[in-house]
Amino acid sequence: MTDRKDELATNLAKVERRIADACAAAGRAREEVTLIVVTKTYPASDVRILAELGVRHVAENRDQDAAPKAAACSDLPLTWHFVGQLQTNKVRSVAGYADFVQSVDRSKLVTALSREAVRTGRELGCLLQVALDAGESARGERGGVAPDGIGELAGLVAGAPGLRLDGLMTVAPLTGEYAGRERAAFERLMVLSTDLRRSHRTATMVSAGMSADLEQAVAAGATHVRVGSAVLGVRPRLG
Ligand SMILES: *Cc1c(COP(=O)(O)O)cnc(C)c1O
Repeated sequence: MTDRKDELATNLAKVERRIADACAAAGRAREEVTLIVVTKTYPASDVRILAELGVRHVAENRDQDAAPKAAACSDLPLTWHFVGQLQTNKVRSVAGYADFVQSVDRSKLVTALSREAVRTGRELGCLLQVALDAGESARGERGGVAPDGIGELAGLVAGAPGLRLDGLMTVAPLTGEYAGRERAAFERLMVLSTDLRRSHRTATMVSAGMSADLEQAVAAGATHVRVGSAVLGVRPRLG
């Protein structure tokens, strides 16, 4: 093994153990939680190694970095998740490689994603990004729809050709009532997910938890955790 492969294998094993322990503590089966490795700022060569080590889900947050990386890795059996704030002028590119867009947070984006999905004949899985730090019907600092807006946006996605409404995503807020209360934030997301599933039964994905708080997310019921630095190392710059 190369040094880098060795390093990633070690980190991956540690994260795997953390997820397994968190599942056990919560009385959940390990299979209920899917690990998505967030590869942003790291090169395609790392994505390739991760695939060799058995990773099947990767995520990116900036189209400029993600598009060439996904192209360089198109031979690998990977599912690509887009998790960053998305401008409508990037939708054409993102819809070309993403299997899931987890950051759907406004109607303009739904229209643009639907148009591209139809044009390319691909079905795009969509998660609504929920901003738990947003005030009434505002948007969050790092994107996301306020809890009040979920119902309307969900209806738009569910009715949009080429799109599939798969669930909800959140990032633990740094400000507002949930600052420093990750477990409470993720439990709130679960309540919102339960509400959503009353009218959209197949929207079962709950994407929450990162390197620092994956245990709290698993405890709250997350189905997908998005882990970057605990696998790849601390990023050289904020991404
Ligand atoms: C970067 C990022 C992650 C992973 O964060 P780490 O702290 O590196 O694990 C998860 N979700 C989103 C939306 C991100 O942008």
